[in-house]
Amino acid sequence: MLSYVKPNNDRDTTVRLGAALGLLLASKGLNVQVPFMFKHVVDALSVDPTGLTPATIGTVVALTPPMLVVGYGVSRIGASLCNEMRNAVFAKVTQDAIRTVANRVFRHLHQLDLSFHLDRQTGAVSRIIDRGTRGINFIMSSMVFNVVPTALEVSLVSGILAYKCGPSFALLTAGTIGCYTAFTFWVTRWRAQFRKVMNKAEAQASAVAVDSLINYETVKFFGNEEHEQKRYDEHLCRYQSAAIETQQSLSLLNFGQGAIFSTSLMAAMLMAAEGIGSGQLTVGDMVMINGLLFQLSVPLNFLGTVYRETKQSLIDMSAMFALLRERSQIQDAATAVPLEALVRDKRTYDLELDGVSFGYSAARDILRDVSLRVPAGTSCALVGTSGSGKSTVLRLLYRFYDPASGTVRIDGHDVRDVTLDSLRHAIGVVPQDLVLFNDTVGYNIRYGRLDATDEEVRQAARHAAIHDQIEGFPEGYDTLVGERGLKLSGGEKQRIALARAFLKQSEIALLDEPTSALDSATEKAVLGALFDLAEGRTCVVVAHRLSTAARCDKIVVLDEGRVVESGTHAELMATGGAYAELWARQSERVDGEEEA
Ligand code: ATP
Repeated sequence: MLSYVKPNNDRDTTVRLGAALGLLLASKGLNVQVPFMFKHVVDALSVDPTGLTPATIGTVVALTPPMLVVGYGVSRIGASLCNEMRNAVFAKVTQDAIRTVANRVFRHLHQLDLSFHLDRQTGAVSRIIDRGTRGINFIMSSMVFNVVPTALEVSLVSGILAYKCGPSFALLTAGTIGCYTAFTFWVTRWRAQFRKVMNKAEAQASAVAVDSLINYETVKFFGNEEHEQKRYDEHLCRYQSAAIETQQSLSLLNFGQGAIFSTSLMAAMLMAAEGIGSGQLTVGDMVMINGLLFQLSVPLNFLGTVYRETKQSLIDMSAMFALLRERSQIQDAATAVPLEALVRDKRTYDLELDGVSFGYSAARDILRDVSLRVPAGTSCALVGTSGSGKSTVLRLLYRFYDPASGTVRIDGHDVRDVTLDSLRHAIGVVPQDLVLFNDTVGYNIRYGRLDATDEEVRQAARHAAIHDQIEGFPEGYDTLVGERGLKLSGGEKQRIALARAFLKQSEIALLDEPTSALDSATEKAVLGALFDLAEGRTCVVVAHRLSTAARCDKIVVLDEGRVVESGTHAELMATGGAYAELWARQSERVDGEEEA
């Protein structure tokens, strides 16, 4: 963590750390002055008048105590000022560290491969970052604002007591702190079980509530409001009893801490009274001892919380740092070079899969010895039954995964010899399951090329046959699309994805069922635009609708991860194989629908 606190030996941080330390010492130094001042006030007021003239008594009583009282007030104000200045000076150090770590983790998460993200719940990952950064905040603040200052104060107070009132007082203070700490740690550990149950029940109650509200329509369809209420209340009930136990055990902790402290205070007072009796101590000393111990009790009150939260923060931080240790399977090879360095001045590239076999897990093969080539500037359709591996081919071309055997090539070069950034820069993708950012329509289209002008965004929307519809929205391009784009219809989302791809102007286009959610009239318009886009580029289209496939230069038919046929529409129809059969079945369905 220290490397994040003090990145590159930054001078500002060094100065702040030094200043915070100075202010900490000053504030504690002033703080222990307060009981001293009070002692002197009391001693001055209880001056022995024997041997003093009435005039001298008047001066002593009139002058000394007011000055000492002012000193008392100034010490208090000074201590509080130093304390708050320390907080203010140190805040930037903590916040800088949090920002550095959060940025590092976020960047790292984007560098991890797709399989990491598919295996993890996104919510869980973002919770790890939230908790981890909160943990850093807590550890740093509690160290600077609580643990170190309290330790310093305990040593100061013990030292002063030993020096001023004898070692027995210092021993008593050290013994009290020891008992207090041991008791606090022991009870806090025992209480942890109630808190764990409470947190779990709270998380479950909120998960049930969120799930239930997300499924609002389903609940209504089946009239299950009462059932939902009961499920929610079960968790609330568990939460309630754990919360009561937490509160009761807290009362026990507070009482125990209070009892230890009061007993020690009582012992100190008895010892002080004895000292006064034997003339070794003054009444002021007794007041000072009382004040010093009382002041010490304030930060110690939070010891239990600090202990518990520190433990939790360390766990949260280690979970976050563990994320940083995750390694991506798909990385640039040490010898990888940008695509442009291998092939200069090309408008587009050809693509090839050579004897590729692949499975998402070792237990199941998805692609088996697939070979296909898409020459530069031509289009190729992938067709086949659902689950035959069409989208998987696109994922390998985009290098979301590497094949188990065989080679994926771009312009004759193994994609593993090319940097990921340059490979992906050359490829525009319209994915099958499209999710939009919860922002405006304009933002989502512009995402294809962040520096595109408004006119370019509109032009791309026109290409994707969505411009007129967007203009018809009350807020036009500023319309918010809602979470995951849920406020738009499937067809609208699909066309926004197309517009985005148009805007990217990449040399290669990978389209995964780009028109599946469109009605046939819109499909026609979009297909026209799509083939305009494909003109002169290398284009691979996954198509369920064979009318789309028929327009491509080449069609590859996949079945259970194998290439079973390939050729042009006319060639495959003439062969009368799998493609011709698919075509015949789809035509029947279309005719049937039309008749109906
Ligand atoms: P569809 O036409 O229905 O989109 P497809 O031919 O595009 O199907 P793919 O998406 O390539 O099929 O999936 C091929 C197989 O791989 C499917 O059986 C699917 O369940 C499996 N699969 C896809 N993604 C993963 C993954 N991340 N982990 C494990 N299995 C996966």
